[in-house]
Amino acid sequence: MSRKLKYLERAFLFVILTIVSQVGGLVYLLSLFLSKRIKYQFFGKGILMFSTLYILSTFLIVPIIAPLFGREKIKNKSHLQPANYLSIVLNRNYVTPETNVFLQNISNHLAQANSNVQARYLDACFPFFKGFPLLPHLSHKDGCKIDFSLVYEDEDGRIVNKGKSRSGYGIFEDAKNDEFNQCKDCLQKGYFQYDYPKYLTLGKVNSELKFSKKGTKELIDAIVSQKALCKMFIEPHLKQRMKLSDSRIRFHGCGAVRHDDHIHVQIN
Ligand SMILES: [Zn+2]
Repeated sequence: MSRKLKYLERAFLFVILTIVSQVGGLVYLLSLFLSKRIKYQFFGKGILMFSTLYILSTFLIVPIIAPLFGREKIKNKSHLQPANYLSIVLNRNYVTPETNVFLQNISNHLAQANSNVQARYLDACFPFFKGFPLLPHLSHKDGCKIDFSLVYEDEDGRIVNKGKSRSGYGIFEDAKNDEFNQCKDCLQKGYFQYDYPKYLTLGKVNSELKFSKKGTKELIDAIVSQKALCKMFIEPHLKQRMKLSDSRIRFHGCGAVRHDDHIHVQIN
């Protein structure tokens, strides 16, 4: 490989790893530097070096440094769990201490109500730098934004704390025929990006599960019971179906993406 091509490949990997996990790009550069200094050659040396450093950084170093930037890891509880481990492995589970309290209170609310519903979170924010966006969510950049999975149930109507896609995004609970179809409306107006989350599933799972109107409403009631909540975004037909009237539950606009695969919540 020519030297130019090699540098281009490295730059590309640095950018991708930074976009995906914030610290991945830096860890990659460090692993290149250290690999060069270890004279002993063996197959997979670079990948082993990167993986070891990445795991050390993500699980040991980043959680210690993040508080200096006003962020901390989400503290899981009985009724507050990650929807999948991708957000944790990719450092997408950091929030401000105030947001963490808000999340703990949501969990407590569900626990006190003896609910079978777990608040299953998806992407929150990165550990470092206010203003550093967590793509593809442009607003998740201040430690005060977080997404939750919708709630699903099995064929017998029992709440199942699982999702319908590997990433937690991209499987939609579409508008029924008698409901206003916001997605169709936005697409017709030319907002072609509106249903782009369909490309983010990383694979469909648990196809037998159905959207739980009761379970999702329980989760939303627990969230809106918190004074700290500033805004919640959910697709208008779901707001209508669950008869939600809290003024903080809003439509995000056609310039965003559809929110009938997840719930966006923010305290700022
Ligand atoms: Zn969001």
